[in-house]
Amino acid sequence: MAVAKIRSTHTIGRYALGVDWQDGHDSIMPFVHLRAHCPCEACDAERAAERMPGSRAVQLEGLDAIGDESVFLRWDDGHETLYLVDEMRALCRCAHCIGEPERPITG
Ligand SMILES: [Zn+2]
Ligand SMILES: [Zn+2]
Repeated sequence: MAVAKIRSTHTIGRYALGVDWQDGHDSIMPFVHLRAHCPCEACDAERAAERMPGSRAVQLEGLDAIGDESVFLRWDDGHETLYLVDEMRALCRCAHCIGEPERPITG
């Protein structure tokens, strides 16, 4: 089973998180996108009510890796998000990830 691993992260301006993955992939993940897909129960409820969690201008205040498997994000609206690294990788919207969502991971 392939498990995504993060090599490093960096912020891109004031709008996105850049993620370098150990398999050589690079992701640019807008804060709005990461915030809107927060997997917590409160945000699930927002989405169920067809509201987007967070605001369009949300900023990332901090990021902590928790072991190899999870990432903890703190937002300037006071919210906190815990992503499994695999969940975060699944949010990548680059041409490669969008274009070949069913591509099997081999090797
Ligand atoms: Zn949330
Ligand atoms: Zn991608």
